[in-house]
Amino acid sequence: MPSHVVIGGGVNGLSVAWHLAERGADVVVLDKGRIGGGASGIAGGIVRNYYRSEPITGLVRMSVEMFEEDPEAYGFRQVGYMAAVPERQVDDLAAIRDQHERAGYESELVTGADACREYLTWRWPDWEAPVEAVLHERRGGWADSMQTVRRLAERARAAGAEIREGVEVTGFDPGAVTTAAGRVECETVVACPGPWVEPMWRLLGLEPVVEVDGERRPLVTYIKAQEGEFALEGAGLSGSAGAEAPVVHLDQAGPLRSDRDGRVLVDGPWGIYFRMGRTGTGITGGGLPVYLGGPPLDPYGPDNPEHAADPGFTDFFTSGLATALRRFRGRAGDWRVTAAGGLLTHTPDDYPVCDWVAPGVYAIVDSGHGFKTLAIGRLVADDLDGGEPLLEPFRLGRFASGALHVASQGPYPWT
Ligand SMILES: Cc1cc2nc3c(=O)[nH]c(=O)nc-3n(C[C@H](O)[C@H](O)[C@H](O)COP(=O)(O)OP(=O)(O)OC[C@H]3O[C@@H](n4cnc5c(N)ncnc54)[C@H](O)[C@@H]3O)c2cc1C
Repeated sequence: MPSHVVIGGGVNGLSVAWHLAERGADVVVLDKGRIGGGASGIAGGIVRNYYRSEPITGLVRMSVEMFEEDPEAYGFRQVGYMAAVPERQVDDLAAIRDQHERAGYESELVTGADACREYLTWRWPDWEAPVEAVLHERRGGWADSMQTVRRLAERARAAGAEIREGVEVTGFDPGAVTTAAGRVECETVVACPGPWVEPMWRLLGLEPVVEVDGERRPLVTYIKAQEGEFALEGAGLSGSAGAEAPVVHLDQAGPLRSDRDGRVLVDGPWGIYFRMGRTGTGITGGGLPVYLGGPPLDPYGPDNPEHAADPGFTDFFTSGLATALRRFRGRAGDWRVTAAGGLLTHTPDDYPVCDWVAPGVYAIVDSGHGFKTLAIGRLVADDLDGGEPLLEPFRLGRFASGALHVASQGPYPWT
């Protein structure tokens, strides 16, 4: 049986390791820190099939099926997912609804301002934001990020994979990776470095650059996702329908005015996403990504001030909530907030890369969708065995050939 070293103990690396080990391969996962120490451990864990590019629709459906097989183990809350959007995004939602139909993934589309208002006020009588379309995926929701990481690690170990934490890969030799703790021999390497893709490319002797439309562009752009936990005395997300509120993704044509002082915070399209907090109280959500050029990657997470949410994020997010639901209006001074940020990478078309990148080295280049694409590990394991047609649209060569994924009209690179 072939032997593999998987670099990275995030959701991508652990999912690949599990599915390779399950096929009987010898698998060693190496992580320079601890499992979940990268983007996977701090993600909001939202799971939705809200993508304008068709090839990812089936992959997300497969991922949702993985969560559905074992929801408690992953900490998966299948509360549903609603995207509510303005006029310019109605065509996107109609196209995504058709994609769902073709992929066998149930969803419901509501169009027209009045019908949307009726749909939303049925759940939240004080819904305010004007929208022209709502796409409701009842199979979506959110997963506890560290619980998902631990579950994947458990499955990988149970299938026979070995996970070594605190082991940094520092180089590549033919038939082995080098680490401070010595060489680890293997036939193939699967690199799943999350945000550390640029240093990984350099270790491989590759330039982290791709050609897009004849122009040299960075393989990845660094984005700071801004998220937080928000609590307001006497006002949460519960509505008249009783059940736990679905995850909501609200986009607006703009501008966004501050609920604190009426100032224009965003003079154009904007969006937020929000859900109930982990304990069933409060609100967890985010929006307004910040593009960063070459930020320091280590230490990763809350200990690095450059990864933290910007000072204006709280006003932005709570003003967005006040636009959505009347109960939050005029309460700007009352919120208790723990804001956080997190660094992630996006490729030039905002979709991941799954491909051979050097002799014996396969890579997953993350583009910020790891929980929604949890099943990628299974497909990559198939790919290593000889080619997986579902991954053809995710090859590196798509940038040079112009076969990029379709972009949505949304304000941010999430869809
Ligand atoms: C704030 C935030 C919110 C997010 N919200 C969502 C969401 O709601 N839904 C969703 O689907 N996605 C979300 N994402 C994106 C998601 O977190 C990522 O797509 C996913 O975690 C990427 O997983 P990964 O395994 O590729 O990378 P990571 O989880 O970053 O794992 C990479 C691992 O590689 C290790 N590593 C790197 N270099 C080396 C080396 N040289 N040697 C050994 N080990 C190495 C690192 O230590 C790290 O543990 C969010 C991301 C952030 C930051």
